[in-house]
Amino acid sequence: MKFNPNTYNPTTDSSPSYTGTAHDLHLVIEEGQCQCGCELQSNKGKRFRQGHDAKLKGKLIRAYLAGYDVLRTQGGITVGDSALNYAGQYNWTSYLERAAAKNSAAPTPTSYTIKIAGGREVQARHIDTTPTGKLVLEYMTAAGETRTVTRNAA
Ligand SMILES: [Zn+2]
Repeated sequence: MKFNPNTYNPTTDSSPSYTGTAHDLHLVIEEGQCQCGCELQSNKGKRFRQGHDAKLKGKLIRAYLAGYDVLRTQGGITVGDSALNYAGQYNWTSYLERAAAKNSAAPTPTSYTIKIAGGREVQARHIDTTPTGKLVLEYMTAAGETRTVTRNAA
């Protein structure tokens, strides 16, 4: 499902003990705790509990797409950074960039009603897109011949 940045509330992804009202992704990560911000102990020598690296990845992707910074509190000290920079410490920036590219790609309708010469309206099928972003549409003439036209994207 397409992620809607306008309805995303970063506090739902913030750590349980965070009760502030800052409108950012707020992670509380004390010594020995899992880095996803769940505030549970991670196994000795591990940064994450099993599977929680994916949880943090999801949080950072949502924060990035919605334009929120990441605040991290440890020992009462809070530091902030952009979600992209924050992801960089895990070498995850490519995940965020890929998610952004995927999320911005508007769903393309497969069928259009177009007006052809003579003012007749026909159903045309989107079969290709030109390098400049125009739609290549295919339709059937009254005589049953297949034709293509190029139109500006809606
Ligand atoms: Zn965790």
